[in-house]
Amino acid sequence: MSGFDVIVVGAGNAALCAALSASENGAKVLVLERAPEDERGGNSYFTAGGFRFAHEGLEDVSQDILTDLSNAEREMIVLPTHSREFFMDQMREVTRYQCDEELANLLVDNSRATMAWLRSHSIRFVPMFGRQSFLVDGKHHFYGGVNIEAVGGGAGLVEAEIMRAEKMGVEIRYGTAAIGLIQSSDRVVTGVKTRTKEGYGEITAKSVILACGGFESNPEMRARYLGPGWDLCRVRGTRHNMGEGINMALDIGAKPFGNWSSCHACEWDISAPPYGDRWVLDNFQKHSYPLGIMVNINCERFVDEGADYRNLTYAKYGREIMDQPNRTAIQIFDQQTIHRLREEYRIREVTKAVSDTIEGLAEQLEIDPQKLVETIDAYNAACQDGSDYNPAILDKVGTDGIEPPKSNWALPINQPPYEAYVCTTGITFTFGGLQINTDGEVQDMTDQSIPGLYAAGELVGGLFYENYPGGTGLMSGSVFGKLAGESAAKYCGVAA
Ligand SMILES: Cc1cc2nc3c(=O)[nH]c(=O)nc-3n(C[C@H](O)[C@H](O)[C@H](O)COP(=O)(O)OP(=O)(O)OC[C@H]3O[C@@H](n4cnc5c(N)ncnc54)[C@H](O)[C@@H]3O)c2cc1C
Repeated sequence: MSGFDVIVVGAGNAALCAALSASENGAKVLVLERAPEDERGGNSYFTAGGFRFAHEGLEDVSQDILTDLSNAEREMIVLPTHSREFFMDQMREVTRYQCDEELANLLVDNSRATMAWLRSHSIRFVPMFGRQSFLVDGKHHFYGGVNIEAVGGGAGLVEAEIMRAEKMGVEIRYGTAAIGLIQSSDRVVTGVKTRTKEGYGEITAKSVILACGGFESNPEMRARYLGPGWDLCRVRGTRHNMGEGINMALDIGAKPFGNWSSCHACEWDISAPPYGDRWVLDNFQKHSYPLGIMVNINCERFVDEGADYRNLTYAKYGREIMDQPNRTAIQIFDQQTIHRLREEYRIREVTKAVSDTIEGLAEQLEIDPQKLVETIDAYNAACQDGSDYNPAILDKVGTDGIEPPKSNWALPINQPPYEAYVCTTGITFTFGGLQINTDGEVQDMTDQSIPGLYAAGELVGGLFYENYPGGTGLMSGSVFGKLAGESAAKYCGVAA
């Protein structure tokens, strides 16, 4: 035996929460990370660090989560409550009532306490001023349910978690991939097989927590499960989530669970590299389409840009772009809204055209000027009275008599200069994975727990189907990571 109670596979947010939790419950923990140290942090590193959780507004979160706000800052903020019922409704609505009720309830019910737990582990939080609020009458009005981020975004979150884990005595081995599970004849998982630059090995432990992401980085698995063409999309984050965790569990009889043919994918700059860039991070995303319109290269609109808050549509509209010619979408804005575009539109690495005329814009984009004028004229003619326009609420300023409609924030595009941003599909993470029970134990084909095997994070199936409420990935990794760590420590007989 290696002397470790718990091996955690992966070193993203879910894994690090599992490691912190197992360690504080008395376990000796080893974290194995496939990536070299300079690529550590998984997808979690690339995030904005935004968390969705149930809370009762500013006074509530100021107690033990947003503890660093000054009085002056507090007075500038309007933070709506995000009740557990509302969070649960969002989970049901965006997944069209397909999410596993037990898992979703666990996520929602434990979300607030887990945020306070993270804070107790020295993770600091701030309001998402830049991306999730609009300045209305001199105050920052937050909207959309994801209003609080870790200091330093995802990179800051992961760095703080690693620092904390190391302080608690957790050992992290980089460049060490888990490639298989060791299982005894009585089904008990007793360790992992590993691959490093030096070769293959085995490490034993009393239990294993798989928290090593989905299969979004693996073109073969994407094409196999998401469908033809998905091998060609960009990957928004790490290149290391190859589905190895899922596959090694399936190899010993774990049960596949959740929405294997779907994923989180969004609007991503067409010039972005194949995998995430650790400098640009998530700034290749282009998420202000509710303020304008989106057309394909045939100059046709193809989604309701204002169907709902961006947080509830962005994760499925990336899949809509996949279905467009050349997997390309063009977002168009005029001077009425350009000042409201998120900061990701102002980075140096942006694929953009600017013109005083729609025809001029089309020529730069090498699409049909006449058709683009027709599309925008038809859209403008369908826009109604815009005097109630308010980007911070669902203002119902919609179009009439056009397909697809734009249900909110529909202002005509008529104030030059016009700006266009060219996007493609960037995959974020996959929805299909393993089944866990309410203790975080991995279930097998006969619906029994595999002794000694736990899972958390992206590779857990059953939470997200077809769509996803923004900010839930980190929250789910933290809730189920903490749970898996507690359960594993208890299983090992070390928990107090
Ligand atoms: C650009 C971008 C922005 C995002 N923004 C947000 C946001 O603001 N809020 C939010 O909630 N979610 C966001 N998400 C989604 C979020 O990143 C994920 O839901 C979450 O980080 C998943 O955490 P995880 O720990 O499960 O996986 P990861 O953070 O990806 O960690 C998995 C780790 O496992 C390692 N690994 C893989 N295979 C092996 C192996 N065989 N052996 C050992 N290690 C292995 C990987 O290298 C990686 O470090 C975003 C994602 C991206 C890509």
